[in-house]
Amino acid sequence: MNSASDSNSDPVSIYDELIKGSYMDMPKETLPPLVFEPEEAEVNFSPDMNAACYCASGKLFGSCCGSPDAIRLPPYGLFMFENYLDEETVKTLRDFADQRDGERLMVIDDDKSTPENIVKVYDERRITERVDLGERQQEVNDIIQTAFVDLADKCVGKSLDWFEKPSLMRYHEGGFYVRHADSENMDPDTCTWHKVIDRDLSMLIYLNDDYEGGELSFYNLNYQVRPRAGAAVMFPSGHRYLHQAETVTSGVRYAIVSWASVSGVSKIATQPIESAILLD
Ligand SMILES: [Zn+2]
Repeated sequence: MNSASDSNSDPVSIYDELIKGSYMDMPKETLPPLVFEPEEAEVNFSPDMNAACYCASGKLFGSCCGSPDAIRLPPYGLFMFENYLDEETVKTLRDFADQRDGERLMVIDDDKSTPENIVKVYDERRITERVDLGERQQEVNDIIQTAFVDLADKCVGKSLDWFEKPSLMRYHEGGFYVRHADSENMDPDTCTWHKVIDRDLSMLIYLNDDYEGGELSFYNLNYQVRPRAGAAVMFPSGHRYLHQAETVTSGVRYAIVSWASVSGVSKIATQPIESAILLD
């Protein structure tokens, strides 16, 4: 594992810098696709160090997007922008968040629930709280909408059908989110991944960095990052980008999260999920 972080006054991606500014200007149809049809999501991504890299660089995965080297490029498809939110907005939202109540996330207990009586329990995979954004929800929705529309276009060359109402997550000391894919679950019997929700791109915007631990780890890609306050991170929601929020060992970590459904990708559900914010 290694870390990469950066600090510039402009929102510049690490790709932009390290690949000499060429990535954003490249026609996206000439690059390997980053979003897939639902049935393609069932094909297992295998982090084989000796196979050709998925990014089509011509290098082996182990010396490209899966490199264990301490100093390396971020894997293809992981887009990071330092200072995406300006300092003042970050500070205002962080100060606001500190004053707000949070609610520990719950999940439906399939064993104890019946259609008439849903039993919810704490989600043991995810020790974190959703902060009540109150009167600032709309402001946060607008921030995420702008970021998603902008970055989906610049990074992946795609437009969006919708994004989910953003949540501000608060991880106290001891908080974590075990490794998972945002749109897919693994069937333990067949060891294959299946798309379970209409998400194609995942977005995180960080409101602080004054904590210890809490790194974002991409285990299939041997990559770990600890973004600075104000950074935006976007990546495809499937299992290639399986990730974990490591345990916060001191302090409090805040991140705004949302997921978007890309235009032209077949949906698995008959309608957008309840919290979707539709785009035209
Ligand atoms: Zn590669």
